[in-house]
Amino acid sequence: MLTIFHDCRLIDGLGEHAQTHVDVLIEHGKIKAIEPTRERHPAEGTIISGAGYTLLPGLIDCHAHYTLDPWAKDPFTQIATEPVGMTMLRAARTARDGLYAGVTTVRDAGAPRQLNFLLRDAIAKGLVPGPRLLAPGCAITITGGHGMKFGGGAAGMDGLRNAVRAQMRVGAEVMKIVASEVAMLTGPDAAVEELTQDEIDMLVSEARRRGLRIFSHAQNSVSVTRSARAKVDSVEHAFLADADAIRCLRDNNVTLTPTLAVTEVTLERDDLTPEFRSRMLHIRDKHWWSCEEAIRIGVNVVASTDCGEPCIYPSLLWRDIRILHDRGLSKMNAIKAATSRAAELLGVQASVGSIASGKQADCILVNGDPLADLSALGRVALVMQAGQVVHRHFST
Ligand SMILES: [Zn+2]
Repeated sequence: MLTIFHDCRLIDGLGEHAQTHVDVLIEHGKIKAIEPTRERHPAEGTIISGAGYTLLPGLIDCHAHYTLDPWAKDPFTQIATEPVGMTMLRAARTARDGLYAGVTTVRDAGAPRQLNFLLRDAIAKGLVPGPRLLAPGCAITITGGHGMKFGGGAAGMDGLRNAVRAQMRVGAEVMKIVASEVAMLTGPDAAVEELTQDEIDMLVSEARRRGLRIFSHAQNSVSVTRSARAKVDSVEHAFLADADAIRCLRDNNVTLTPTLAVTEVTLERDDLTPEFRSRMLHIRDKHWWSCEEAIRIGVNVVASTDCGEPCIYPSLLWRDIRILHDRGLSKMNAIKAATSRAAELLGVQASVGSIASGKQADCILVNGDPLADLSALGRVALVMQAGQVVHRHFST
């Protein structure tokens, strides 16, 4: 069965420019061909008119917690106290909303009780609609560390080694570690480093031994530097990283996942205490600086939501892309941060992250031209996943 996106503007995720008046042919779940637009005979297949729309690869969210409910006032207390069935129903809603917003691949960033494995498997079996989920299980962390919110907590080298091995045994396909506390705390522990250099080195070598990629939550300069030296695949946040730490990312070829939407969206909430708001403003300014510096010196930067924090919904990836542009990426590179470059970071670029012949047909149609206005990425008209139209906001 042939489906044809007819007369589209195409941003393929790889090229420097958009193409116009293009037909993209889909068959057997894959992209069959990309051709100049021509008149089509109705018997040829299902025609989807792309006039006025832009076709892009399905978006990739490199850091999200789909089992934490962003609609909850306190997602961490909620997931710790409610029945697991309710948690999974909420997670199914999050996954559906992410997919319908054009997100077709997600790297989950940790869940209590490894609930992300359940969600990943339910999506893969077609029980609930959602993006393809790459799941780490829990986040690996020290006893009492920030990552205990995401189910981790192990003592010393042996404890951490056992934790990471046990998790790989039961289905982790990527590894998430927590190298520091969070910067948002208003006490002296804010962003303080947690994992030692030796511990991070060991965790990276354990992941590599099994062929897994590994990413590290790190928010101060020490934790960013340690993670970069250990050559994790990506460092998450780097809110308070200084110039030396950012340079260390570049010198070790480590990607930055800044999670920029979090600070912006959190500051829009009207329920913050004055103390927390002023802390967030301080972090936001530092964060913008570290991200700008990373872009300026050529660190690879990718897009993400950090969905699961309060009010950080799965549909907000377009905002992170827009802020990446505001911080210095060109519009096209900001789009690549959520498509081809994100796919390379996750190791899935052979099948997704670009629109090219032979790739899996994960694509979206958005209303308008994202290169004129990136907020067009928030106006998703149609979502195709593996060749199937799974959502549409318009009729053709
Ligand atoms: Zn996170």
